[in-house]
Amino acid sequence: MEEFPVRVLFFKSRDCVFCEPVERMVRKAISRLFRNELVTLNVFDVDEHNELIDEYKIKSLPCVIVDEVPVISGMANEKEVEEALMKGVLHGASYRAERLEVGAKQVFIEANLNFVKSINSKERIRINIGDYVHISNLQLATISLLSLDATAGNLLYSIGKLAGKTGAFTGLLYDIAPSLGDPYTSIEKNFRNFLIAIERFHIKQNELGVFDARNAEVMEEDKDYGRIRIYESAAATGVPVIGEPICYFTAGMISGLAEAILGETVHVAERNCWGLGASYCEFELSLSKGELERRKTAIHAKKGIEAREESFSRLIKTLTRNMSQSVLEGRRIRVGISDYTHIMNLQQQVTSIKLADPVAGFFLKLAGKRLGRIIAPRERLSVKEAILELKNYMNSPLSLMSGIHSNCNIERNDGERFMVTIESCAFASGQENIGVSLCEFETGIIEGFMEQSTGQSFSSREVECWGLGQQHCAFQVEKERFS
Ligand SMILES: [Zn+2]
Ligand SMILES: [Zn+2]
Repeated sequence: MEEFPVRVLFFKSRDCVFCEPVERMVRKAISRLFRNELVTLNVFDVDEHNELIDEYKIKSLPCVIVDEVPVISGMANEKEVEEALMKGVLHGASYRAERLEVGAKQVFIEANLNFVKSINSKERIRINIGDYVHISNLQLATISLLSLDATAGNLLYSIGKLAGKTGAFTGLLYDIAPSLGDPYTSIEKNFRNFLIAIERFHIKQNELGVFDARNAEVMEEDKDYGRIRIYESAAATGVPVIGEPICYFTAGMISGLAEAILGETVHVAERNCWGLGASYCEFELSLSKGELERRKTAIHAKKGIEAREESFSRLIKTLTRNMSQSVLEGRRIRVGISDYTHIMNLQQQVTSIKLADPVAGFFLKLAGKRLGRIIAPRERLSVKEAILELKNYMNSPLSLMSGIHSNCNIERNDGERFMVTIESCAFASGQENIGVSLCEFETGIIEGFMEQSTGQSFSSREVECWGLGQQHCAFQVEKERFS
């Protein structure tokens, strides 16, 4: 899971004659030249996503881009395809690691700083509604993304790992166990001390006001192996059984913390999870990769994108129901701690995705779009009526009390264009101006909601955001002319 796959983007269209043969060549070359985990192919139909033509400056089809660099444009033969992919992938691997390092780090450094500021001075980032967001919002975003993007798990693991290595929480572990990582102690002893410190880690976090999970318990330990159970995590508690574990970020986070403290690579795999039917999450840690492979008792067959797709709407309905029961009726999802977590947690796990990997950012928008379609009214509405419904939904007690934002305003410019403004967005509030809009998931929700309720094509683009220097978020929504 530690390897970070390179993305190969394939752009095609319905009436492009070369697209199909070249796509077959690309698929063949990828399976022949690379192991599958190392390279992921994402195929996009530009008829469906015409915004990509501008974004990737596509001039002719088919077009193959490996990590921002176009390697094939138009017709190519088998040999050319293989050479282009080989070159692109070799370059891409280092490029991606760098992008993750620089991009995602910015988001969680800012999120961490804000958090520390807010606990030290009791100064809220969001003055009007406070800095907590309902855990269902985190689950909706990450699980929707996992259901669409085959590499999202690896990406979340890598982001989690980086957050563990560079975030504020290593300091917290040293507070718990000051002798951690002592250079005169053996690595095995340090590893054991690390496991024990993790037991108290979430309790300590909660005293500060993070509410990421209730607590952890060491279930088993050996000289270079440990098994830890985490109870009532924000990422998974209450999630229905989907046949696979979902806490990639948490696994990565544990690995990153361990690495920062022990100075050694620590492999972490989630072995049990709410997503697999347990009522806790369980992680195996080892200093040796082979040890984890050897112990792998139950092999959880990865169900793959198709199965994820199939259960998607059921999943969304359960998560939305959990949220509304918790928010509106007071039926809590977590018993030991609050159902709300600090927005820093959401920003580390979701907002950082786009900066770590722009393609994952695009998938996050698509994920939001699917959610938007599901929550939109079933009956066909006029554009005017749909805008009103969107505004009602955005300002509904469920939205506001879940802490996702404080207020939504919609200004209608004319029948085809309007502007949605959101105050105190949980995904972005407190972030610095880094020249990038941050709220892909919400951009997608608005687009999906409008399309489903009107039966027409809309495009939604975030034009103002904390990440762009404003202190609110605004989305320009337009009816697409040729739909
Ligand atoms: Zn889990
Ligand atoms: Zn924003």
